[in-house]
Amino acid sequence: MTHTLAMIVALIRDNPAGIDKLLTEHVDDGTGQCRRCPLAGQRGFKSWPCLHHIVATLPRSRKDG
Ligand SMILES: [Zn+2]
Repeated sequence: MTHTLAMIVALIRDNPAGIDKLLTEHVDDGTGQCRRCPLAGQRGFKSWPCLHHIVATLPRSRKDG
């Protein structure tokens, strides 16, 4: 689990455009759910902020890093 998270963070950290894309696509659809993530067949991804959005904000929140 932490493994996957670290991998995603590493991936998007080297890809600023990817971060913007994630933040643009993974938005609240107005009902507290992610507009981008599948609603069915997945666990823990449909609530917004979803994992993708949270991870995309990590590099920016660490300005010292
Ligand atoms: Zn999402």
